[in-house]
Amino acid sequence: MMKTFEKNIRRVTPYVPGEQPQRPVVKLNTNENPYPPAPGVEKVLHEMDAGQLRLYPDPTAASLVQELAAYYHVKPEQVFVGVGSDDVLAMCFLTFFNSEKPILFPDITYSFYKVWADLYRIPYECPKLQDDFRICKEDYYRENGGVIFPNPNAPTSLYENLDFVEDMVKHNPDVIVIVDEAYVDFAGPSAIGLLEKYENLIVTQTFSKARSMAGMRIGCAIASPLLIQYLNDAKYSFNSYTMNQTSILSGVEAVKDKDYFNAQVQKIVRTREWTAGELRKLGFVFPEPGANFIFAKHPDLDGTELYEALREKDIFVRHWEDERIRQYLRITIGTQEQMETLIAFLKTYSGLKKEENR
Ligand code: PMP
Repeated sequence: MMKTFEKNIRRVTPYVPGEQPQRPVVKLNTNENPYPPAPGVEKVLHEMDAGQLRLYPDPTAASLVQELAAYYHVKPEQVFVGVGSDDVLAMCFLTFFNSEKPILFPDITYSFYKVWADLYRIPYECPKLQDDFRICKEDYYRENGGVIFPNPNAPTSLYENLDFVEDMVKHNPDVIVIVDEAYVDFAGPSAIGLLEKYENLIVTQTFSKARSMAGMRIGCAIASPLLIQYLNDAKYSFNSYTMNQTSILSGVEAVKDKDYFNAQVQKIVRTREWTAGELRKLGFVFPEPGANFIFAKHPDLDGTELYEALREKDIFVRHWEDERIRQYLRITIGTQEQMETLIAFLKTYSGLKKEENR
């Protein structure tokens, strides 16, 4: 029975993050990068003076903001940083989605959007992805309280080109449009270039994927100085010191090392293309992968059973029970060696299943 005092408690159904097993497994379930961050990150962590931790960090994280501004060719007033893009996006929902009209995001997308909308009591509607899992942009050309979508989308891995993104922004001039580019480095050009033309656009990115720093928790939003000002006002009304000293210092080093960054991204893309080729040979089908993961199903194999069978062999991938996607597995691109282990297992497994069905 519900206690009287429970009546006014803000209750939410939380987001469920992927599992972080505390033993070595072939970990392809949370879209982490299998390689270490830039060498400068390791160096700065070793050289860090723990005595500095006695002081509060710079609340503006100016050094990191400046480094990102230089990297993206924008002004520092156009950059906001937070504790992973989850923190940045949560702040964006709080700040910009404050209308009575529903915000719009796809039915199959990053499942945290729904959770933030529920948490902040933001009405929302979820236009269905097409059968090929592409976003139908015309579904978003109507009155709404704001728009958010990832590009590439997750978990489908599908990237839409900048004409598509521009159409979305152009048709929604009276609301804020957020493009969540957590995986854009593995796909194509960022929408940051569109900021010169559109004041209502926000682009978010993360250090967790291409920059190999999921454990450090750094994300950012790039937008017009006006929107960044609003975002900072909300942040300073919530927690002034979101960024700790360690993440500011190491984040700067990660952004500085462009060569390392580009080399890592290319390496992962090469492994992705190899894995995609092998999966196709085995009969798997999937939307064109544009991120560091592949969203695949096999016409003759049950998604839930395959997920369980992989798990039993300590190969972790991500699986959802939602009706539309329960046959699919989201497979993060790990090292070449990890992907070879996965493919070897899938070869044996699909061979055995063929025998069983004979
Ligand atoms: N957006 C999308 C689409 C994601 O898949 C993720 C990763 N779970 C995030 C944002 C958040 O990543 P982080 O908080 O690590 O930056």
